[in-house]
Amino acid sequence: MKDIISLIEKQKIGKVLIDEPLKKYNTYKIGGIAKCIVFPKNEEKLIKLLKIIKDNNIKFKVIGKGSNIIFSSKDYDGILIRLDEFNKIEVDDIKVVVGAGYSLMKLALEMTKKGLSGLEFATGIPGSIGGAVYMNAGAYNSDMGYIVSEVKVIDPNLNIITLYNKDLDFHYRTSFFQKNPEYICIEATIILKNADKKIMMDIIEDRKRRRLMTQPLEYPSAGSVFRNPENVPAGKLIEDAGLKGKTIGGAMVSKKHANFIINYDNATSDDIYNLINLVKKEIKEKTGIELKQEQEFVNWE
Ligand SMILES: Cc1cc2nc3c(=O)[nH]c(=O)nc-3n(C[C@H](O)[C@H](O)[C@H](O)COP(=O)(O)OP(=O)(O)OC[C@H]3O[C@@H](n4cnc5c(N)ncnc54)[C@H](O)[C@@H]3O)c2cc1C
Repeated sequence: MKDIISLIEKQKIGKVLIDEPLKKYNTYKIGGIAKCIVFPKNEEKLIKLLKIIKDNNIKFKVIGKGSNIIFSSKDYDGILIRLDEFNKIEVDDIKVVVGAGYSLMKLALEMTKKGLSGLEFATGIPGSIGGAVYMNAGAYNSDMGYIVSEVKVIDPNLNIITLYNKDLDFHYRTSFFQKNPEYICIEATIILKNADKKIMMDIIEDRKRRRLMTQPLEYPSAGSVFRNPENVPAGKLIEDAGLKGKTIGGAMVSKKHANFIINYDNATSDDIYNLINLVKKEIKEKTGIELKQEQEFVNWE
């Protein structure tokens, strides 16, 4: 690994961090050590990096803001890639071309202030554009699938290609990328609509107030743990099963919102893992429903 890191440094791919605590890179604030995190400067450098990774058969993963992943406490002994430098944005009338590393929340607020509508759902979602496309992030009956017209990706052969909305298989919290994790999203084109700024800001403010009242935003978490089964919110099933406030170590099923697990007191990755599995087991036993996770376990294998 040392040789590979010096090769990456020699090729001036971008910032390289070694032996970083993973808790700085995910919203649960958990995990072991990342042996190497690289922040490629641009597309060309990213492709160079991927070539080094593939030639040397090294494990890797692109991460966004870490707001939907659950790292194990093991060290990540491959290369994590962050696309923070992919942060350009171009707005042309109602068309927005934005880099995968751009903050979704920031984009949503900026577009609303310009009177461009379509991203109001995203002002409470703390991910990157790349992570939001991968997850088809959404809320209030809207999601990325409604507004993304195309994305620029690096395919497994390291070519840059365009995938269009119809190729991206957007459905509830899922997209093409989840079935094809070897594709990397580097840019998205989003089509918005002109609308009244004041009305949009009022909607956003109202939702913010409601989120603050109903979500445990004062604690580290990764948002909803489970996808909503058809016809019933996962949170209601968990609440009805009497699991609100249930703890394992420093992890707790939030008392405010039962579909959130919070790191309320220095939780370990295992605390969160075990609590998720306990909730799944109890819901299965009590209702017969198999809850499906929205959050992704990373580095547990
Ligand atoms: C308080 C809170 C509230 C939330 N509310 C919502 C909500 O209302 N609705 C909602 O949908 N989600 C919500 N989330 C979850 C989360 O913010 C979203 O899923 C978000 O889209 C994840 O983006 P990320 O950049 O953090 O991705 P990460 O968690 O870093 O990564 C998620 C997955 O995307 C992949 N990925 C990341 N970037 C790329 C890329 N460029 N190319 C290919 N793959 C990539 C990663 O490999 C990983 O598999 C919430 C989270 C929190 C903490």
